[in-house]
Amino acid sequence: MTLIPGDGVGPEVAEATRRAVDALCAGVEWDVHDAGLPAIETFGTPLPDHVMDSIKATGVALKGPVTTPVGGGFRSVNVALRQELDLFASVRPCRIYPGVPSRFEDVDIVIVRENTEDLYEGIEFEQGTPELNKLRGYLKYMHGFRLAEDAGVSVKPISITATKAIVDYAFHYARRNSRAKVLLGHKANIMKFSDGIWLATAEERAGHYTDIGFEAMQVDELAMWLAWYPQEQDVIVLPNLYGDIISDLCAGLIGGLGVAPGMNLGHDHAVFEPTHGSAPDIAGRGIANPIAMILSAVLMLAHIGQDDAAARLELGVARVLADGKVRTADLGPAGPPATTAEVADAVVAATDSK
Ligand code: NAD
Repeated sequence: MTLIPGDGVGPEVAEATRRAVDALCAGVEWDVHDAGLPAIETFGTPLPDHVMDSIKATGVALKGPVTTPVGGGFRSVNVALRQELDLFASVRPCRIYPGVPSRFEDVDIVIVRENTEDLYEGIEFEQGTPELNKLRGYLKYMHGFRLAEDAGVSVKPISITATKAIVDYAFHYARRNSRAKVLLGHKANIMKFSDGIWLATAEERAGHYTDIGFEAMQVDELAMWLAWYPQEQDVIVLPNLYGDIISDLCAGLIGGLGVAPGMNLGHDHAVFEPTHGSAPDIAGRGIANPIAMILSAVLMLAHIGQDDAAARLELGVARVLADGKVRTADLGPAGPPATTAEVADAVVAATDSK
């Protein structure tokens, strides 16, 4: 198994997770590689080739978060991994575990996010560059569009092929996991040729899965329903950008980013990682919540067929959360907050050994 600790709080939550998985004695062997800021320091690039080679060889990676500079600097390691390994589906189960403080009960939503296209594809034109000036001229000449002189441009491609793949995945997921309905978010009323394809393709695919309910909804309305009646939502399929935003919204419904796991799936490879980022505001202090990454490891174990180990680890996490005595600060503990390492200790102690 490839293990990428990442940067920021990544190495802290990765170490806690590694300990929790090793305690299961499930025979997981780690091939550990740096990516992100530590890889830049050592190798001069955030994603060295040998990291990609390791994932291609093992087929499965558990990954901590990696910082992406805002507005410049190197390109996102996460986006590069998803595109190069064709990890077309990001799946983020958002379930409230008993004992976790939240305004809601019984939330059990699964976000299925398209991972390769949309505004994340990286087709961007920097303001003031000759390329953007050419594009501006073309748009004006061919279509009469006026692009502001001081604008930058990001392009949003959405294809029938990628939409079909993710919508089919969402229906298969619903079937496999006894889910009743797939809800599709879109903005086809505004972006007729990108979200328009997304909606029309999904409606066509839904006809092939008559055993599963289907509904399409504008994503702004969907956000309103999620904040109001999250208990009523089931599997939600979204294009890349809306999926990113709505997953964090759903993390907020279930106790926050500290308890929100995720996985990125392709046909040949899978990368498991928490929904949260590198949390630079708390990095290096040993106080990050490792539960999101430990639950990502639960998803990983289930993916590789270690169902028993996955169930035991999830039960260990559930016991620690229900008990409530050992909690990091983000979960609002009654007493002094626990450290990352103390939560890992508690999970190991609460997990049934084989
Ligand atoms: P973030 O998720 O890192 O942090 C948002 C808030 O949640 C912060 O207040 C942080 O302290 C808190 N938080 C996050 N994880 C936590 C945990 N495990 N325990 C307790 N509190 C936690 O989001 P951000 O600040 O927008 O992003 C920071 C960096 O991470 C950026 O460079 C961003 O691009 C990157 N990022 C990476 C990934 C990834 O690697 N998959 C995902 C999201 C963001």
